[in-house]
Amino acid sequence: MTYNSVLDNVQTYEAGKPIELVVREYGVDPKKIIKLASNENPYGVAPEVVDILQRKACNAYVYPDDSMYELKDSLAKKFQVDSSNVVIGAGSDQVIEFCVHAKCNTNSKVLMAKTTFAMYEIYAKQTGATILKTPSDEHNLDEFREIYKSQGADIIFLCLPNNPLGECLDANEVYKFLDEVDPNTLVVLDGAYQEYAKYKDGKKEIIPSDVIAKYPNTIYLGTFSKAYALGGMRVGYGIANEDIIQTLHKLRPPFNITTLSLAAGIEALKHEDFVSKCIEKNFEQMSSYEAYAKKKGFRYIPSYTNFITIYLDGYSSKQIAQKLLQRGVIVRDMTGYGFNAIRITIGTNDQNEKVFEHLDIVLDESKK
Ligand SMILES: *Cc1c(COP(=O)(O)O)cnc(C)c1O
Repeated sequence: MTYNSVLDNVQTYEAGKPIELVVREYGVDPKKIIKLASNENPYGVAPEVVDILQRKACNAYVYPDDSMYELKDSLAKKFQVDSSNVVIGAGSDQVIEFCVHAKCNTNSKVLMAKTTFAMYEIYAKQTGATILKTPSDEHNLDEFREIYKSQGADIIFLCLPNNPLGECLDANEVYKFLDEVDPNTLVVLDGAYQEYAKYKDGKKEIIPSDVIAKYPNTIYLGTFSKAYALGGMRVGYGIANEDIIQTLHKLRPPFNITTLSLAAGIEALKHEDFVSKCIEKNFEQMSSYEAYAKKKGFRYIPSYTNFITIYLDGYSSKQIAQKLLQRGVIVRDMTGYGFNAIRITIGTNDQNEKVFEHLDIVLDESKK
């Protein structure tokens, strides 16, 4: 069969490996598996969120409130915007998809950093758009400027902080850049890890209400999948001016998130203290990874997120990741991005101690 030819250039997203696969393929006891490849919050949610999920389960036969009034209202209050400035997606992934489909066709150009969130490119290519990437792996706004001035772009993606590398631009540099962008270019500010970044360094904080007031061509994206520990529920959101939001709603399928997802998101926003504690623990644990890397003589990228990318100089990251997998430790090998490095989500103290033990053994075995 022939298909839409734009799909010839589209690669399938490779998600972090699930626990079930490691059980099936390597026969590891599921209780012993340490899954640190998808940047989930290992501390989970506040107990009240679990309660509400159990209580709402018997309502599963009813379609969810498609207006998503309560979740939008809670987000609007949190971010000091109006409900009409909010769109909800099945993960912020879906909002990325809406943005791309709202702007792009085969004549369009989409600009992004060389090494950034893979879905920007995948969604853009689905429309046949041309991908423009800056030469540096990490975000460099001078490079964005240069390419934008010479070639233009219909969408610019900035990942703040950046997945999979962990670096983060300062908010004031981003604002300065936004001053130079044409009002017809949509700028997507992906804040999937903003909660972590602003905790570590206030200079990284993007304030959506300020941004959308000053720059009507921007959209801020947030998600419940990372700091809010609801990856399995698929809830994300976009904050932008009404004109953008109304356009994205034309692309939104009805009932795009479930009754349970809505309830979980609403409840999670009532327990910000719980989330803050998770973030605090994340950075305490991050320092043990930095210490481990230093002890082994490995370089790493200082991270503003809940993961750390460590270069495995002198070893093959692909081999190390594979050996860890056989021992039930799931991390992300970065070979596909052209890096001899692994990206590890920061786990609990217990998980991290075990990771170091396994890594010690695996590194020892692989010594050249
Ligand atoms: C995880 C992630 C998202 C979206 O995740 P969803 O689960 O779809 O909300 C978006 N951008 C980046 C950079 C991410 O790492």
